[in-house]
Amino acid sequence: MNSQDHNAPASPRIHEGSEARPDLSSLHVREDIAITGLCGNVHLPTGRTCDMPERHDGSCRFVGPEDAENLAAR
Ligand SMILES: [Zn+2]
Repeated sequence: MNSQDHNAPASPRIHEGSEARPDLSSLHVREDIAITGLCGNVHLPTGRTCDMPERHDGSCRFVGPEDAENLAAR
């Protein structure tokens, strides 16, 4: 956070709560995939699952449900 506060008077800073990252707002993590060391994010609108490594760079690469099943821990 490097943005300078622009002369805002001491406004009471309301804690916005620890909302999940906005970029993940439409995502859900499949734990059975996440525990295998993969990202496991599910794009809820499409039901597709990310098969990239955990904390990968860039955006998720979603694969279809069948591929995702192969990624899941048994
Ligand atoms: Zn991902």
